[in-house]
Amino acid sequence: MNGIVVVGTGQAGFQLGASLRENGYAGPVTLVGDEAGLPYGRPPLSKAYMLGKTDASGLSLRPDAFFAEHRLTLRAGERAIAIDRAERRLRLASGEAVPYDHLVLATGSRNRPLPVPGADLPGVHQLRTLADADALKAALAGARSVAVVGAGFIGLEFAAVCAQTGVPVTVIEGLDRPLARSVSAGMAASIEASHVAAGVRFLFGSAVAGIVGPDRARAVALADGSEIEADLVLVGIGVVPNAELAAAAGLRVENGIAVDAMLATEDPAVSAIGDGASFPSPHAEGARVRIESVQNAVDGARCVATRLTGRPAAFTAVPWFWSDQGPLKLQIAGLCQPHDLAVRRGDPERGGVSMFCYRGGRLAGVESLNRPADHMIARRLLQAGRSPTPDQAADPGFDLKALAL
Ligand code: FAD
Repeated sequence: MNGIVVVGTGQAGFQLGASLRENGYAGPVTLVGDEAGLPYGRPPLSKAYMLGKTDASGLSLRPDAFFAEHRLTLRAGERAIAIDRAERRLRLASGEAVPYDHLVLATGSRNRPLPVPGADLPGVHQLRTLADADALKAALAGARSVAVVGAGFIGLEFAAVCAQTGVPVTVIEGLDRPLARSVSAGMAASIEASHVAAGVRFLFGSAVAGIVGPDRARAVALADGSEIEADLVLVGIGVVPNAELAAAAGLRVENGIAVDAMLATEDPAVSAIGDGASFPSPHAEGARVRIESVQNAVDGARCVATRLTGRPAAFTAVPWFWSDQGPLKLQIAGLCQPHDLAVRRGDPERGGVSMFCYRGGRLAGVESLNRPADHMIARRLLQAGRSPTPDQAADPGFDLKALAL
């Protein structure tokens, strides 16, 4: 018996190993990952870790002893370079071929590079790994002014850290609002207002033409000819799924490694989970989605572990996500994008706000800012397939909790 081999020791790969053992799988489990050390969580990298509120040991998903106790063979620092599907072998960069009965690709995603001159100068950073976070944190300690390229989650979380630590920060975004692809216009406005009040400066509709050197980053050059002074630049313009290994093995790739409703590829011996996989979601009316969140990585891993231990079922868990940006806790339940109607519940000036997003007349998702109770209710509503009317959602007197029960 060759057992189950997992490529990627991030959130999804780790969870797959842990869930296999929870489900009673007794065969060999090997986790192959190209990052050194124990599997760790990425969310604190742009928040608590960046602020010095937790150290590297606080990021580990489990201590060293867990892997021996659960007979999970962790091969950290090893890169998989090819899959021989006919022979069911995974080839590593070392030349070794690891045989498998089932292969799970949990390869995640990597940061999209900024395609402009000067993007490789010292002082220009990305944030994905612990090593990235260490370099960024050290640079922030000596920075006079920061530019963040991209008003996505990572960019806004880091901008909040800069504001909290008193370093002037400008967020440069090509579109007309923050989180344009991720949240409703109403939610984006609330988030923007809070960042502005904290001292963050935004430039919307601004294209970056280059990073000004010559020896290290000194400013960001915009397409309109202006320059934004910055000795530290964080690029946060989204990610690219790590799907090349699958593609080279002849597996279908469609905005990530394409899997079916059970997270299986067209090869019955290969599954894919996490940031790097795309799947048809009942929460998007069956459309193929690729979701970058801890919940998606964890619940997808649980789904595959359950199938591999004899109880196959489709992946139907309600997607949810959080992002902490200074005093803001944004939580999203369901898949809000695209939506054709968004109604507001609560008041951003007084204790938080939620946006209930509708698609085709049904509740598609709920964005909550500093309203955690709404978020929990939304998850229940979506799991149960219940949809309050937009009037009910907007009415502070309407008991949504009762509807969710
Ligand atoms: P990853 O965690 O990226 O793990 C994939 C691993 O596979 C990596 O270690 C990669 O190096 C390795 N790998 C790839 N190819 C190979 C190969 N060929 N051979 C060997 N190894 C390989 N999500 C939230 O829900 N809330 C948050 O607040 C939040 N904050 C975040 C903050 C930051 C700074 C970042 C970067 C992400 C954040 N996320 C957050 C997203 C979340 O961390 C990801 O969705 C999650 O890590 C995805 O897990 P994964 O296992 O699919 O991918």
